[in-house]
Amino acid sequence: MNILVINCGSSSMKYQLINRGKRKVLAKGLMEKIGETNSSQVHYIGGRIIKKQDEVANYEEGLESILALLLDEKKGAMKDASEISAVGHRVVHGGEDFFHSVLIDDEVIRTIKSHISLAPLHNPPNLAGIEAARSLLPDVPQVAVFDTAFHQTLPEKAFLYALPYQYYEKYKIRRYGFHGTSHRYIVKRAAKFLKKPLKKLKIITCHLGNGCSTTAIDRGKSIDTSMGFTPLEGLVMGTRCGDVDAAAVLFLMEKGNFTTTQMDNLLNKQSGLLGISGISNDSREVQKWAGKGNLRAKLALEIFTYRIKKYIGAYSAVLGGLDTLIFTAGIGENEANIRNRICQGLEFLGVHLDKKKNRALSKASRFISTEESPVKVLVIPTNEEEMIAEETWRVVNKQ
Ligand code: ADP
Repeated sequence: MNILVINCGSSSMKYQLINRGKRKVLAKGLMEKIGETNSSQVHYIGGRIIKKQDEVANYEEGLESILALLLDEKKGAMKDASEISAVGHRVVHGGEDFFHSVLIDDEVIRTIKSHISLAPLHNPPNLAGIEAARSLLPDVPQVAVFDTAFHQTLPEKAFLYALPYQYYEKYKIRRYGFHGTSHRYIVKRAAKFLKKPLKKLKIITCHLGNGCSTTAIDRGKSIDTSMGFTPLEGLVMGTRCGDVDAAAVLFLMEKGNFTTTQMDNLLNKQSGLLGISGISNDSREVQKWAGKGNLRAKLALEIFTYRIKKYIGAYSAVLGGLDTLIFTAGIGENEANIRNRICQGLEFLGVHLDKKKNRALSKASRFISTEESPVKVLVIPTNEEEMIAEETWRVVNKQ
């Protein structure tokens, strides 16, 4: 069974064609600058890299050219479009309506549209991808997999802000949480890796990429997560500030005479590792400069790792104990130094890092704690596309 996974961003489209039975990625690619004159594309099909720079006016044109490439007699990955059994779409915001992935119909599309105000940058391109796939592959079942769905198990005490209750009722202002597909994927992988049922585990997952979030997972259920109403809250990220006193935002707007758009830009694009270091949003650059003694780069790393440690402490309390701590995504999978800083001082919780295992380079799921460590510390590479394909298969086969 081949599943086409589609992830549309504000002007980009990522895709993977996955053969589920063989657990093989047959093709994948990225199309950027959709709607601009110089869209760039890179495709990996059957060990070959294909780069293109055609103009792509919209998502439907984009998908049409991806399908043409996948069906190309010489370079393609399939003989006929009927070899695609289902399409899985990443949808960022499902509001309070979706606890699970769903088969897409007109009603589902209407509901996703009704959540555009909650995710104005994400849901419209997600919908454009869905419309394109429905129009080009009308007989193929389409499934929506939501970033927010995994966190719909949060209890009220964790998802409500202490704002006047009427604004939750009126505007649905609450914590939704994001990166759900990644957090779900890595806990499932961790349970397999540990050979333990999820129902017996208290887990904290740290997804540390350009965007960063951490989740407390009690017996397989997300019970608290650091991202909130939007993906801005919580941890320090590449360019996002994470937690900040709301009054400081109001103060800055007044002092700097900033419009809401300017303030939004400051919080989401100019803060985080970039904002503190003044150097880069890329952890590798920041580490390089910290290594050369740059004080602001050092400070950025300190604040970044301190915030994560603080959340691990809080979530251990929320979970009433901790069995497993997991790191994933660009930084979580690759930055031994950052993992080390986060875990230093957490011995009182039962976290004992094995320095040698932590430093070893690997792309595989692995232990980085000592044999005796009461809390198992793992690195599990995330794979959101595989999770979306898995969910799509499950929904189509009513599993
Ligand atoms: P995104 O949230 O965009 O998916 P990633 O998960 O790719 O982000 O993570 C990007 C971050 O991971 C950057 O800060 C980058 O510096 C860091 N990183 C560190 N080592 C690596 C590596 N070997 N490969 C990719 N990213 C890395």
